Amino acid sequence: EPYFVGIDIGGTNVKVGIVDDAGQTLAFCKTSTDVPSGVEAGLKNIYQAIDDALADCRLTMDDIKAIGIATPGTMDIPGGKLVDPPNLPTWKGFPIRQTVCDHYGGKPTIYQNDANAAAYGEYWIGGAREAHSLVFWTLGTGIGCGIIIDEMIIEGRHSHGGECGHIVIQMDDGRLCDSGQYGTLEAYAGGTSLVKRCQEQLDAGRESVLNDMLQQGQELTPLLISEAGEQNDELATELIMESARCLGVGTTNLMHTIDPDMVLFGGAVTFGGKGTAQGDRFLQRIREEVQQRAFSVPYENTIIDYAELGADAGYIGVAGCARLACLKAE
Ligand code: BGC
Repeated sequence: EPYFVGIDIGGTNVKVGIVDDAGQTLAFCKTSTDVPSGVEAGLKNIYQAIDDALADCRLTMDDIKAIGIATPGTMDIPGGKLVDPPNLPTWKGFPIRQTVCDHYGGKPTIYQNDANAAAYGEYWIGGAREAHSLVFWTLGTGIGCGIIIDEMIIEGRHSHGGECGHIVIQMDDGRLCDSGQYGTLEAYAGGTSLVKRCQEQLDAGRESVLNDMLQQGQELTPLLISEAGEQNDELATELIMESARCLGVGTTNLMHTIDPDMVLFGGAVTFGGKGTAQGDRFLQRIREEVQQRAFSVPYENTIIDYAELGADAGYIGVAGCARLACLKAE
């Protein structure tokens, strides 16, 4: 049976998985990206994680058919290089695909955007396995997006296809995004933005349980804001629902562009996610905004839901992309 290695590189952690032909994970290992120490240090961690994962399922590199690597953009997908990724500053310009390929003696290696990869994971074996077309959002520090139509990931001419976290939702006096642009969806609904928007309100003297939490030495993070929301804190709830409203606007724009079978939400900043009171309210608020703004036919017929694979979507998906590239080459 062919096996694949999936490597999902983020600003903080790297997830490495050994995945079989059906998308099942045989072994998993997480390591630190160690961005401040630079790309050599990060790569060393990644090679070690691959060794550990292979040992864990009693395989060697000889059993591996292909490797998939995913990073956040901006990037050059066909060129196999990071271009200017805001969350991986020390990796700027690094030719990752060729470097990893050479390290493993020319093993076939493919490169993909992290959100595109996670979208493919959901499309292959996750929440969208019955769908033909998918818009997938991943909510984290930034906002990633992946669009798939009939097995094809929309990469675009310059690897910027599906960079929908950067669609503009506010034309005038928009908030500044980490990408350097103003008024983007990520600047309103990303994890970094949530913390910034919250800090502004606290600085302006808003009452909130968050004031007490911060006084106790806790750090202001999306997770802490989510916890405050679960305690029905008014400020936290307001901020979370505003994120949902913005995501509803972004989703409407994409529904009117792609008209997909499905829109799925994944990532770590989903406020509890599926089946929790707050996670359900968050998704409901997104749907309401779409209902108000979209044509009724797409609204009534498009499934808008949470994704299924959670934090595993990226490495599973990029292993799947490696598999797909092998199938196409055969
Ligand atoms: C980047 C995307 C990436 C997303 C999630 C965004 O800021 O532009 O390429 O998919 O963050 O990591």
